[in-house]
Amino acid sequence: MDGNINDISQVVEADRKHVWHHLSQHKQYETVDPRVIVEGKGLRVWDAKGKEHLDAVSGGVWTVNVGYGRESIARVVYEQLVKMNYFAGAAGSVPGAQFAQRLLEKMPGLSRVYYSNSGSEANEKVYKMVRQIAHRHHGGRKWKILYRERDYHGTTIGTLATSGQDQRAMQYGPYPDGFVRVPHCLEYRKQWDVENYGERAADAIEEVILREGPDTVGALVLEPITAGGGVIVPPKGYWERVSQICKKYDILLHIDEVVCGVGRTGTWFGYQHYGIEPDFVTMAKGVASGYAAISCTVTTEKVFEMFKDDPNDPMSYFRDISTFGGCTSGPAAALENMRIIEDEGLLANTVAMGERFMGNLKGLMEKHRVIGDVRGKGLFCGAELVADRATKEPADEKKVAAVVADCNAQGVIIGMTNRSVPGLNNTLTFSPALIATASDIDQITDAVDGALGRVFG
Ligand code: PMP
Repeated sequence: MDGNINDISQVVEADRKHVWHHLSQHKQYETVDPRVIVEGKGLRVWDAKGKEHLDAVSGGVWTVNVGYGRESIARVVYEQLVKMNYFAGAAGSVPGAQFAQRLLEKMPGLSRVYYSNSGSEANEKVYKMVRQIAHRHHGGRKWKILYRERDYHGTTIGTLATSGQDQRAMQYGPYPDGFVRVPHCLEYRKQWDVENYGERAADAIEEVILREGPDTVGALVLEPITAGGGVIVPPKGYWERVSQICKKYDILLHIDEVVCGVGRTGTWFGYQHYGIEPDFVTMAKGVASGYAAISCTVTTEKVFEMFKDDPNDPMSYFRDISTFGGCTSGPAAALENMRIIEDEGLLANTVAMGERFMGNLKGLMEKHRVIGDVRGKGLFCGAELVADRATKEPADEKKVAAVVADCNAQGVIIGMTNRSVPGLNNTLTFSPALIATASDIDQITDAVDGALGRVFG
């Protein structure tokens, strides 16, 4: 190869030969072409073969919240890059300050933003802050971090230590100490036979705290609505009780909004459905809709002040850096992304289209007995497939994957909870961009309807 590849078939060959794709078993590409996405506009993308797809998963992983081809974001980023592209984050930047202020207007009670590049990194920052607070303010105690079964917080060794999705963490250990699991709260797969399921599932967290010793526990990290672990909307009463428990034992509450943040569930942040007062909020994917890499670790003035307590001590401040957290493209894109969501009324659209989608999925449930449960909030929905509604035995994972493949063949890209929870990778996932129209939602539903019929009969 001469290195001059303009022809799209040569691009595909170069990809096959040289690119190591994320989350992919490459053996398949010996017989089929790797998918290369060439162009996008609105909710639709075109691949190297020129085929059009309706993307019902916002770039595959809940990311492109405002849709593809947004020239205004590209323009803002271009202008910012020409003026000032980068300076290390020990200094401030114009878009960094502007975006922090705009963001915090939407997050009462929180007042500081720490910039980095990915969801994993944003979460790691919290873990480090919690550990440093333990060292400096709790005499080395309160160093443990609790996380929940079926939640996911990232791909680094540190964040995998808080993976509630076993398959993600397998074969990459050993992991660091001090990360302790609490039970999930999915009522459809009950662990307790009680009426107030939400409160009972929250009490299970308290049981873990008491077992570990409250003075050893520094923080609890939770997704407001679990994403890749099965689109789990916590039951009534859960969040109120979790908040009480954290306050009771002086445990910092860290909400991972990497998926739910920036409009996905119909509010700016998922936690805002539940009246929670978090100590940390992390976000990434939808912050700039994939137009630039940016993540944020947001916290309170109370936490921030803990890192200013002794200016004469060279160890007292947060001794952390993220080189590319100083890129200005991220906050510049994020500001424009936020303007679009506001000016186009995308939160209201997300609520309306989310209701339509949930209604459609419930309709499919009447027709297809393989759908055991549908769950969701806003444009963030899931349909759990079961072999038997009475026993809730999960549907065969291969068949769930066949439904995804069938939709793909119809030109509709949907997702599934693959490679996360052993035996329970049986939930179809949907998260179209927040600009989705009624006809987009109905097209996705029709594709799923046809696929379920063909795969399960
Ligand atoms: N938290 C959640 C809830 C996620 O879903 C993800 C990514 N799927 C992450 C964190 C990690 O984000 P990233 O891939 O940007 O590191």
